[in-house]
Amino acid sequence: MENFWESLSEKMKDAFEQAEKKRKSDLFKLGSLPHVLSFIRDMGPEDILLLLDQARKIKKRKNPKRPPINADFYDVKDLLTPDEQKTLDEVRAFMTSKVEPLTTEYWMNGEFPFEIIEGFKKLNICGMTLDKKFGGQERSNILEGMVGAEIARVDVSTCTFFGVHSGLAMNSIDICGSDEQRKEFLPPMARLEKIGAFALTEPDVGSAASSSLKTTCKRQGDTWVINGEKKWIGNATFADYIIVWARDEEDNQVKGFIVDRLTPGLTTEKIEDKMALRIVQNALITLKDVKVKEERRLQKADSFRNTAEVLKKTRAGVAWQAVGCARGAYESTLDYTLKREQFGRPIAGFQMTQDMLAQMLSQITAMQCMVSRLSQLQDQGQLSDERASLAKVFCTVSCRQVTSMSRELMGANGILISNKVARFLGDAEALYSYEGTKQINSLVVGRAITGMSAFT
Ligand SMILES: Cc1cc2nc3c(=O)[nH]c(=O)nc-3n(C[C@H](O)[C@H](O)[C@H](O)COP(=O)(O)OP(=O)(O)OC[C@H]3O[C@@H](n4cnc5c(N)ncnc54)[C@H](O)[C@@H]3O)c2cc1C
Repeated sequence: MENFWESLSEKMKDAFEQAEKKRKSDLFKLGSLPHVLSFIRDMGPEDILLLLDQARKIKKRKNPKRPPINADFYDVKDLLTPDEQKTLDEVRAFMTSKVEPLTTEYWMNGEFPFEIIEGFKKLNICGMTLDKKFGGQERSNILEGMVGAEIARVDVSTCTFFGVHSGLAMNSIDICGSDEQRKEFLPPMARLEKIGAFALTEPDVGSAASSSLKTTCKRQGDTWVINGEKKWIGNATFADYIIVWARDEEDNQVKGFIVDRLTPGLTTEKIEDKMALRIVQNALITLKDVKVKEERRLQKADSFRNTAEVLKKTRAGVAWQAVGCARGAYESTLDYTLKREQFGRPIAGFQMTQDMLAQMLSQITAMQCMVSRLSQLQDQGQLSDERASLAKVFCTVSCRQVTSMSRELMGANGILISNKVARFLGDAEALYSYEGTKQINSLVVGRAITGMSAFT
């Protein structure tokens, strides 16, 4: 503004000062121009043009035309059928109207909002891709992925609840269970009448779960006895069924069991003080001589290779969760940068801000295109471990970068939980590590592209 003032002639400055006395703060509004001009009728055209130009610029800055905030820049939603798009719209409406208002408070308190379960029952989004005979809906993987991203866009914890229940637990039964087990357990889980959890990780065994599980199972007649500990198990404090993976003392192979949470000898202890996914109820589980009938052993799980089949499918789901998390952070940030003013204009108008926004959008777009193609391959039966792992790595790494840039663009306000972005930033850390860390999934890809295993 100083330069503008310097550029004016003395006559012009006089005119401004007189006008300012009368209409102080309105001076630079276009609406006050006729008033100002009445003082400068006899001025030269250069001064008048300069004044008009400045007034136009100011008006433009104050009321720029705002495009809608939407991170689906390449319209990946159009890959869905109209019916599928309708489902996605219903999920968005529910998430924004019913879940979003609760999320910050529940996240802060580390509690799960059980009241949202009834609404989710109506949305009918559990086990969407499973066979209708077993309570599924035989819908596409790409729809299921986009539904996950839509949920994560508002709250990654809620999405993780589904990732554990509908992804890990239901898929364990679907992939590793007999038809009788699928018929008995999957329909009530699809209706959210029964909730599932998935217990693989242990206090001393995370990445090395394929070879080093310490939890054991031992067959005694038609009963199995399980002993050990599990850590980080989502939904475990309230789930009806916990899928427990244990090493058979007899043949040393990993076997899976559908265990009732209330079985004697099984106790759960909630893990407190997390800096991510605080709504998810993660637990330490202790299993002391827990007795499970042979009919509850997953009949098609003979080794960790079967467990890995489940993880292959759910890792694709985590990649979609990362898309939603990054999208939620980016969209909140874009909105913020349009509203937050510094140096007399929205920070969205600065070149360096726009560079960061463009970088974030390009990463989200790359993630969306990658996972959409992955889901199409999955729909054609072409999902492989390495394809799922590559998407899990790329999307969770990108999500971490996008949420970090979001925080940066919000300055100090970015560390406030009430501004959402801090929540997405923390949650991105958990996505990065669970269901196989970046290193473990990179090793899966590395093994596939080099033909050499570098795990140990
Ligand atoms: C919020 C949350 C929810 C979870 N929910 C569940 C659940 O519901 N059920 C469940 O079973 N588990 C769950 N987990 C556990 C999760 O799957 C594990 O945390 C994950 O597999 C990594 O194991 P770890 O944390 O023990 O890390 P570690 O295995 O101890 O790894 C530590 C570091 O060492 C690196 N590393 C390990 N081995 C290698 C190697 N060979 N080469 C190079 N680097 C290596 C890792 O990449 C990592 O950076 C959850 C975790 C979190 C954080």
